[in-house]
Amino acid sequence: MKVKLPRFNKNTRQLVLYRGMRYFEEQRMKKISEVDNTYVYQVDGEVNHYEVVINVAQDDTIVFSSCTCPYEDGGFCKHQVSAYFDILNTQGRLHLDDYKHALTLKEKHPSKPVPQGWSKEDYIQLQQFNVKEYMTSFTKEEIMDLMVTYMKQDMKLFMYLFHHYMVEEEKNKIKGLS
Ligand SMILES: [Zn+2]
Repeated sequence: MKVKLPRFNKNTRQLVLYRGMRYFEEQRMKKISEVDNTYVYQVDGEVNHYEVVINVAQDDTIVFSSCTCPYEDGGFCKHQVSAYFDILNTQGRLHLDDYKHALTLKEKHPSKPVPQGWSKEDYIQLQQFNVKEYMTSFTKEEIMDLMVTYMKQDMKLFMYLFHHYMVEEEKNKIKGLS
């Protein structure tokens, strides 16, 4: 995905964006060299150091961006993100708050066909089912019970909640974010 440097968030997952923001705040990245819009950074990870190489075109497009870390979940990694923030900051055009609600790379969710054993009619009715309204008939304890029971059968909701928790945790670690 080709993106402009200030809009790198479009090709970054939300959690990674916040982690990169924290890395920037903790000044984990160190610029090794800058030649003709090609930047080389060394970034301190939790255990290892990684090398980030970035090339930005005249029109601000990120032409090339790589990191030696093993991240491969889609989009840029947190090390690259910390370097982007540093480049923008050095150029005097970093507005950290703009990235708080910035558009990020969507998480991967496989699209689900009609579940097995369901008729098309059932499935259509399901789409129109008012979950919110139905759930008001439950007590908080019943809802929590339901959720925990479901999570024991299927990891998806658990993963979703955990991901949400991690994003919030990461957000809270960033001091510069109001
Ligand atoms: Zn990396």
